[in-house]
Amino acid sequence: MFEHTYAALPAGFHAAVAPTPVKAPRLLAWNEALAADLGLDASLASRAADVFSGNVVPDGAQPIALAYAGHQFGHFVPQLGDGRAILLGEVVDPQGRRFDVQLKGAGPTPFSRRGDGRAAIGPVLREYLVSEAMHALGIPTTRSLAAVATGEIVVRDELLPGAVLTRVAASHVRVGTFQYFAAQGDDASVARLADYVIARHYPALRDAPNRPLALLQAVAERQARLVAAWMHVGFIHGVMNTDNAAVSGETIDYGPCAFLDEYHPGKAFSAIDRQGRYAFGNQPPIAQWNLARLAECLLPLFPGDPDVALADARAAIEGFADVYRGYWLAGMRRKLGLATAEDGDEALAQAFLEALQAVEADFTRSFRALVAAAEGGAPATLPKSPAMDAWLARWRERLAREETPAAERIAMMRAANPAVIPRNHRVEAALAAAAEGDLGPFEALLAAVRRPFDDGPAQAPFMTPPEPAERVRSTFC
Ligand code: AMP
Ligand code: MG
Ligand code: MG
Repeated sequence: MFEHTYAALPAGFHAAVAPTPVKAPRLLAWNEALAADLGLDASLASRAADVFSGNVVPDGAQPIALAYAGHQFGHFVPQLGDGRAILLGEVVDPQGRRFDVQLKGAGPTPFSRRGDGRAAIGPVLREYLVSEAMHALGIPTTRSLAAVATGEIVVRDELLPGAVLTRVAASHVRVGTFQYFAAQGDDASVARLADYVIARHYPALRDAPNRPLALLQAVAERQARLVAAWMHVGFIHGVMNTDNAAVSGETIDYGPCAFLDEYHPGKAFSAIDRQGRYAFGNQPPIAQWNLARLAECLLPLFPGDPDVALADARAAIEGFADVYRGYWLAGMRRKLGLATAEDGDEALAQAFLEALQAVEADFTRSFRALVAAAEGGAPATLPKSPAMDAWLARWRERLAREETPAAERIAMMRAANPAVIPRNHRVEAALAAAAEGDLGPFEALLAAVRRPFDDGPAQAPFMTPPEPAERVRSTFC
């Protein structure tokens, strides 16, 4: 059932490596629905703990670790690579879509440097929860198929139970994969990788007259769409290094990620992001910076006059800003219930955010309160302030020029303003309980975030912001 298009690339792209067996594999989570969507064999489900811990390499798997480089917090590291992840192979789902199936935390690889190749239960379950929440929110993301406890201890600042995550991704090609070859001056491999990415993710570009430029533009477009989607739900990735930027346009490598409680564009949670490089409001310019790094790799492949090539690459990078803004504004219109476009809409959306910031209002609840307001009820969870009153009056005036039937507008707003996100304090509590052996809170939270737009009674406990004592100020990975 596994295919191996990436393993078929030349030797420098990857290294063969078997997972290191673990002491006592025990299934923590199994994504039955995803397994069914992928058309995985039932025999894998019955052996999930063994297979998805790496203890049993299934027939047809060809385990490899992938080579890549990357800019980490702005500093180039010429060799990173899968230091603790092992690709078993690719599966093609019944609709013909190809996905990587990767074990994360499956033991050392030739790219481990000083790392142990392992993962602790907390980060594994965080990635499981948040990636499944993002999928339910309709945001492009890698998925989580399984989490297996290893029965072994991993040494971090403290001793923690170990686990292995099985991740499913459109691919694991990163901006940093291009950088790995470009930094070695190996343009032939950059070209080979570009061909691979076009065939796998952007087949419509196969016959483009300037394929590297077309690829750069296509990746820019997907990154713009992705980051706009993050900004619509208050998601902070936390480590937008170029090695964590997938050229497929999926969210990848969930580390110390978080969701905004109160709105503030300068908000950063990651304990390793001391300068706030990856703060909420910096995400669009950082995505653009990452694209500039991709452009540097692809530029030597552009045909024709080098001056024209440079101008084309610059235009693609600069164009990101407008493409991003278009996606952002379209999503904000849906959140505000606007089916038509007027010039003042961007200012209207910004003014709402400013009113939230002024009173440190909860991002998710405030947007969801607009649904209640549109339904004619009292927006109970919306903060009261003179600025907010003025804004509501301005919004109602704008809504009065909309001709969409109210029921349609409300349906649009409900589908654009989640009631339930994986709130930081809920995530931390679920991970802490799981580390103590109680998976109940993890399972309850997972069930809730899989229905993000449902605000029924069962969802209520997951819709409330943290009490002061519950507030998460910093996230770790
Ligand atoms: P990340 O911060 O997870 O995006 O990882 C950055 C780099 O460090 C990647 O090359 C990872 O493979 C590597 N890495 C992270 N944790 C470990 C670990 N425990 N053992 C080996 N390599 C690791
Ligand atoms: Mg990474
Ligand atoms: Mg990682």
